[in-house]
Amino acid sequence: MLNKLRDPELGKRILSKLVPLAREAARLLGRPAIFMEVCGTHTMAIARSGLRSLLAGSLELRSGPGCPVCVTDQGDIDKVIALAAARHDLVIGTFGDMLRVPGTNSSLEQERARGARVEIFYSPAEAVTFAAGHPRDEVVFLGVGFETTAPAVALSVAAARSRDLKNYSVLSFHKTVPTVLEILLSDPELKIDGLILPGHVCTVTGRKAFDFVSTKFNVPAVVAGFEPVDLMEAAYLLLKQIVSGRAETVNGYPRLVREEGNNKAKEIMKEYFKPVDVQWRGFGMVPQSGLALQERFSLYDAAVKFPVEVSESPPPRGCACGDVLKGKIVSSDCPLFARKCTPLQPVGPCMVSTEGACAAYYQYEWSKTGSRGNIGG
Ligand code: SF4
Repeated sequence: MLNKLRDPELGKRILSKLVPLAREAARLLGRPAIFMEVCGTHTMAIARSGLRSLLAGSLELRSGPGCPVCVTDQGDIDKVIALAAARHDLVIGTFGDMLRVPGTNSSLEQERARGARVEIFYSPAEAVTFAAGHPRDEVVFLGVGFETTAPAVALSVAAARSRDLKNYSVLSFHKTVPTVLEILLSDPELKIDGLILPGHVCTVTGRKAFDFVSTKFNVPAVVAGFEPVDLMEAAYLLLKQIVSGRAETVNGYPRLVREEGNNKAKEIMKEYFKPVDVQWRGFGMVPQSGLALQERFSLYDAAVKFPVEVSESPPPRGCACGDVLKGKIVSSDCPLFARKCTPLQPVGPCMVSTEGACAAYYQYEWSKTGSRGNIGG
């Protein structure tokens, strides 16, 4: 199946249908259509495959709030860093992406160099195993992610409980995608003609959870997989809707996404988490879009066990990550891009995360052209 999806001939065939359709849509709209991919993995796949430059001039692809590290609020980043700095007796467990994300005055990486204990884990289950093997250590796992990650983190709490571990807790910064898309689509300044919906998130939520995109906002949407062919197909299905004047939420990833999603994963999320208001980078407070552990699991809630307060946490000076995440600008429009901000010296999280728009563009697109020209041509 994967070989078929990676077949260059199939890609060429889809592209040969896509480009004339994109031109037709551009003629109808009076400008190239703008589609937003709402998934950091899509952002990377688009950059890596060179799809953006293949479509330049007839179709523009922009990133949205789909990178979980990038949308984590600066205040939350500062809280984790402050915890790591103040409590060298704790082991802060995290996915690798968070290590180099700059806080206001430091980063986890810098705190680790100063003696903080920060461990990289590839899964929350690995963090639980570590806690079980190090009973004298107190492990705080950073729960950063969307509906895709939250069930695994909930299961890690379940595993810690069943093993009667008292030295494992979760600092939950989880967020849910549909709620922030409602805020995004309500923005009158947004000029997006279609959404490429996150395939991984939809495997949990189901396609139906995103019906509102087309029914409430009249914007075409397609759930997409992660191969270049999947993304071309999603663009094709969006263009077809634009050309025929329709707006529907279509499942372009039926090999993994169901109408209702994964009920087991949804149930475990509901059992362990409750929706709360949270800050998103670039969006501010988004009501009921965060996931906090339910009170009955407070023994495993690092926000309860190790409360931290930080003073004001302004975004890094000059960093335009907020506007990148809202699709208002593209990475190369940021004046710091490839000048003061590079993967080696990142100013904002979008240049650090493996799913960040600025990192993707820098690594796969800008570095090839060496130019700061607009993405999408
Ligand atoms: S280039 Fe750097 S400073 Fe500019 S938006 Fe991207 S991450 Fe932020």
